[in-house]
Amino acid sequence: MDCIFCAIVAGRAPRSVVSEDELVVAFMDINPVNPGHVLVVPKTHATGLADVPFGTGARMMELAMRLAKSARSAGLDPDGINLFLADGAAAGQEVFHAHLHMVPRHVGDGFSLQVAYGTPPSREQLDEVASALRSELE
Ligand code: 5GP
Ligand code: ZN
Repeated sequence: MDCIFCAIVAGRAPRSVVSEDELVVAFMDINPVNPGHVLVVPKTHATGLADVPFGTGARMMELAMRLAKSARSAGLDPDGINLFLADGAAAGQEVFHAHLHMVPRHVGDGFSLQVAYGTPPSREQLDEVASALRSELE
């Protein structure tokens, strides 16, 4: 399979690794939103979020949280941090090997997820969707 992140994991493509363990690896994004933008990926290919084992996903989140801490203390001086995962093309996923972004943010950097909110749902509607989600929880 021709996957750029699998090639990076395997060391067959150029990469700047920040950290790795037996399940996940974190490397610098080639086209960062801001300096310090890191991608955390599972070492085993997983196309989307549903393909990532829960234990691996937990490890991805743990590493991203640790990276967020290091971004705050490594002199990058972020005003904020986004942890961001795009699951599916409609959500903005462009590389189809699951990855969690750790993005140091600065006021006015222009990175945004824009949304045109409609009328907020009623409590009954919120409860109905909550119930549908609850019944499908693994
Ligand atoms: P997505 O939109 O899928 O969430 O994000 C894909 C990310 O992968 C982008 O931020 C993009 O800059 C990064 N990217 C794409 N190709 C490469 C690559 O070859 N090496 C690295 N390090 N990052 C890449
Ligand atoms: Zn892959």
